[in-house]
Amino acid sequence: MAKIIDGKAISRAIRCEIAEAVKKMDVKPGLAVVLVGDDPASAVYVRNKKRACEETGIRSESYELPCSTTEEELLSLIGTLNKKSDINGILVQLPLPKHIDENKVILAIDPKKDVDAFHPYNVGKIVTGDYDFAPCTPKGVMSLLERSGIEVEGKTCVVVGRSNIVGKPQALLLTHANGTVTVCHSRTRNLKQVCLTADILVVAIGKADFITGDMIKEGAVVIDVGMNRKDDGKLTGDVDFASAEPKASYITPVPGGVGPMTITTLLENTLTAAKMSLGKDTE
Ligand code: NDP
Repeated sequence: MAKIIDGKAISRAIRCEIAEAVKKMDVKPGLAVVLVGDDPASAVYVRNKKRACEETGIRSESYELPCSTTEEELLSLIGTLNKKSDINGILVQLPLPKHIDENKVILAIDPKKDVDAFHPYNVGKIVTGDYDFAPCTPKGVMSLLERSGIEVEGKTCVVVGRSNIVGKPQALLLTHANGTVTVCHSRTRNLKQVCLTADILVVAIGKADFITGDMIKEGAVVIDVGMNRKDDGKLTGDVDFASAEPKASYITPVPGGVGPMTITTLLENTLTAAKMSLGKDTE
């Protein structure tokens, strides 16, 4: 039987550590959360982020703008937040309304306050391995592995999915941790054969229960990033838990696996940004 990687418990432990670190700071870290429009899922994410900040003593400022906000208005707000010395991190909740160019918005954020690590400057630093921030979900996966005592070095790692926010940075972080990494996507031939080589399998495709037990090597570590809403409203991952769990040595559940780590990593990145602004060692 696989060991269940408890993302909620690991997340709680990291949040306690963050709260301890924040307590020792004279000036509390500040995160600006910007939401444009009225997408209900985005509103929930923003609310959860604000709550997580409160839990750890990080100050949060929220900017909830109507859908009619123009690109210029949003860029101007980001310019203002870039200059605010009590704001260390800026998070613009994506997706943005269609009339706003997401790339322009990401480029406008000061890379030192880019706690989502989407700015090309930070993406470049992740490629070279010399980075301050890594995107929240892939970095959260690395924390889950580390805190579960799972060594990446020398392991065969397969990442299914190549998005800019999960798959690609995940592959880079695993490579920096000395894993041997293969990235799969919708054009991959023989996906099952490739998955069967994985000692560590990370799945981020957005297709409910897509990876089944017959695609998993005996004893593999299975990390399910997927979050899919089923017709009955229940959340399910990209991995079919029932058939995968008997094959795996470790597995993340959905919900309660990778999900809680994403916001926790956002808090870690905000703390890092605050320490950087004070010129302190971020280790
Ligand atoms: P994207 O839709 O941006 O990317 C999906 C990737 O999966 C693409 O690279 C695509 O390939 C690949 N893919 C799609 N179908 C297949 C297939 N049949 N076989 C192999 N590869 C396939 O998704 P995201 O990366 O943004 O998100 C992935 C999942 O993770 C979603 O369920 C999302 O909700 C979840 N997620 C969870 C987070 C969390 O906090 N837990 C945070 C972010 C995402 P191609 O490039 O060829 O199109």
